[in-house]
Amino acid sequence: GKRRESKRQKPNILVTGTPGTGKTTMSTALAEATRLRHVNIGDLVREKNLHDGWDEELECHIINEDLVCDELEDLMEEGGNIVDYHGCDFFPERWFDCVVVLQTDNSVLYDRLSKRGYTGSKLSNNIECEIFQVLLEEAKDSYREEILLALKSDTIEDVDRNVATLTEWMRLWHPST
Ligand code: ADP
Ligand code: MN
Repeated sequence: GKRRESKRQKPNILVTGTPGTGKTTMSTALAEATRLRHVNIGDLVREKNLHDGWDEELECHIINEDLVCDELEDLMEEGGNIVDYHGCDFFPERWFDCVVVLQTDNSVLYDRLSKRGYTGSKLSNNIECEIFQVLLEEAKDSYREEILLALKSDTIEDVDRNVATLTEWMRLWHPST
């Protein structure tokens, strides 16, 4: 049958960026400020086993993108979600009203990831990912430029400013007609 056309009454926001750029920190603060639902994809994958095992080389779960998208479809249709993940090219484009790419100065990111215990190639791969703006390019390839927002995330003041920017964006957002 014909798919029911749903107009979500609250927006969905995707927060992406290299690991360590502050996605979870900013998403948590934004969820508090807006009462939107914070969906941390990494946590969801672990809790619901939406993966195909462990990648020994990259030291992370091999995420099953189809399972993740199936799991999220109803929530995303309902609206009012902040999706937090270091990838963005496998979600349906129609899900999001705003796509935020967080960016961090290389030396700041290096310190954050070292503190997190990253060493060797895991550390250098993520720093390279940030240097080459991999997530910004991925977002540009996957979503319309009009809904893309690249935001600096070096300091705590940046978190506050980004939350304020997005709260204001949300205040002006209306369901599409
Ligand atoms: P991600 O979810 O993108 O991997 P996190 O939110 O877990 O990043 O942040 C990684 C670390 O950096 C945490 O210790 C957090 O407190 C810190 N952090 C995140 N964003 C900022 C920021 N804008 N300024 C200072 N510290 C930050
Ligand atoms: Mn995180």
